Amino acid sequence: MTTSFGQLAHLGHAELLTPDLDATVWFCTEILGMTETARDGDAAMLRTWDDYEQTSVVVRAAPHAGVGRVGLRTSSPEALEARAAALLAAGHEGRWEDGVAGTGRTFVTRDPDGHEIGLYHDTTWYTAPDHLRPGLKNQPQAKPGRGVAVRRFDHVNYLAADVQANAEFHADLLGARATEEIRMDDGHVAARWLTYTNKSYDVVYTEDWTGASGRLHHLAFATDTREDILRAADLCLDQGVPIETGPHKHAIQQTFFLYVFEPGGNRIELCNPVTRLVLAPDWPLITWTEPERAKGQAWGLKTIESFHTHGTPAAAGTDDRRYRPAALARRGDA
Ligand code: FE
Repeated sequence: MTTSFGQLAHLGHAELLTPDLDATVWFCTEILGMTETARDGDAAMLRTWDDYEQTSVVVRAAPHAGVGRVGLRTSSPEALEARAAALLAAGHEGRWEDGVAGTGRTFVTRDPDGHEIGLYHDTTWYTAPDHLRPGLKNQPQAKPGRGVAVRRFDHVNYLAADVQANAEFHADLLGARATEEIRMDDGHVAARWLTYTNKSYDVVYTEDWTGASGRLHHLAFATDTREDILRAADLCLDQGVPIETGPHKHAIQQTFFLYVFEPGGNRIELCNPVTRLVLAPDWPLITWTEPERAKGQAWGLKTIESFHTHGTPAAAGTDDRRYRPAALARRGDA
């Protein structure tokens, strides 16, 4: 375990970039079942029903799909100062900014691959308006009776040219610990899963075969149950949302999953990982070999080719998989 483990409390929120703001917000509210809390020009603030902070995702209009700043909450104001100092001492860029999405003063930096990260401690706890007030006081918001009704923003999976360098950045400077990895026959690390908490993973790095940098593989949202994943597949089928793969169960981390493409082109995972907690303080890094990975996912479904090639922004000359939801066309918004 790294000595700074515990200074990062958890994954906070992510900025999802889209060339079609209305369509991506439609996907988030009508398919994922998130709640839009505010609109600020070209950005929409959305939340899952069980995230305690005000914002889970900032959907922002941009020329290309992708991921913007990912917010990580520190465990204390002192931990925020300590991590900022450690990053600067290690030669990484960093600047202080006012926070976004209900967060306070934020230290903005980048991982070695160029993905923007914002560290903050001060945040705004969500207060539900009357029509979204929950029945129990220990729940931030009533469950929406709409779409998948995702419970929590669960993890971010980044594409990166050098997986090991980026994973070590999180381990050495942000106090993450690595729980599982894929190591190829030639010895290089093709993917690594890291956590700041007792969840088995919060951030993942996957090798980008295109040689590009700063790209997104997927954002993932946790559902209450495995059955919700099956229902999500049916909802996507009805609404014309492209399904990439699943429902199925990952071998790595054993997460039950469905991967779909939102209208902006970003890959979104619906996941049910709640059976997996890492309680051992001396958890050994689990290494999956190339032959083991060639066996496919937990129940034998092979990993499909697009999983290794599609990321956002899309590589030049490749399909960015954008679609216009039929529901918006019927409303006259197309
Ligand atoms: Fe995932």
